[in-house]
Amino acid sequence: MPGEPYASSEDANFLWWRARMLGGRTNHWGRISLRMGEYDFKPRSRDGLGFDWPMTYEDLAPYYDRTEALIGVYGSNEGLENTPSSSSGVLLPPPAPRVHELLTQKTCTEKLNIPVIPAHLAILSEKQDSERWPAELFPNNPLAQRVVRESMESRAACFWATPCGRGCSIKANFQSTTVLLPPALATGNLDIRTNAMVREVTVDARGRATGVHFIDKATRLDEHATAKVVILAASACESARILLNSKSNQCPD
Ligand code: SF4
Repeated sequence: MPGEPYASSEDANFLWWRARMLGGRTNHWGRISLRMGEYDFKPRSRDGLGFDWPMTYEDLAPYYDRTEALIGVYGSNEGLENTPSSSSGVLLPPPAPRVHELLTQKTCTEKLNIPVIPAHLAILSEKQDSERWPAELFPNNPLAQRVVRESMESRAACFWATPCGRGCSIKANFQSTTVLLPPALATGNLDIRTNAMVREVTVDARGRATGVHFIDKATRLDEHATAKVVILAASACESARILLNSKSNQCPD
């Protein structure tokens, strides 16, 4: 990649365009926001494949609710197998189906007995309730309530006419650059380092994360940021790359 301090081996026949930019993959995704179901957490027990997660769907469900309410997700609760419902009032109403969707629904339901339901998408079908959610999501935190309320009030409902995959100028869809970073910056507690490519998570003698090494793309200097908590949110390929490059006494290979 031009301008990137990393190369592929000569015989590598795998090229993957990585969204190395502020907001990363959230700028480009299709906004589909599905929950994993209880089966997905225990594939080993259920199918004999993969690994069981050390948590259940019930452990994660409250955080799905919080996230959907914060970012704005539309959809319906249908009670289908392994397709969890959101808590009451969390989802925004789905838009009315279009003609081809009505035809698909009619054919599948009546002739094939296949349920056809609205997608769950991180798009505002109507404005968020900016009175209810900041207070419920951030109790006893007036600063968070204020910046989230202002953020929610600044977002408009979708007008269903433009390509979401290139970002949404009225903030109707979810991307971190328009929905999460502005209120976080408004708290005064966020520093953003762009052009900083993480190459390794550092750990202490007990194997606990202490920070990250990153390369400043402009200066090519290797820098280290210390942290109490490190969250890798770099999409599947980048998160795996960083973890594989993070050697330690516990994981030397
Ligand atoms: S306003 Fe356009 S870009 Fe924004 S969510 Fe709606 S269709 Fe997508």
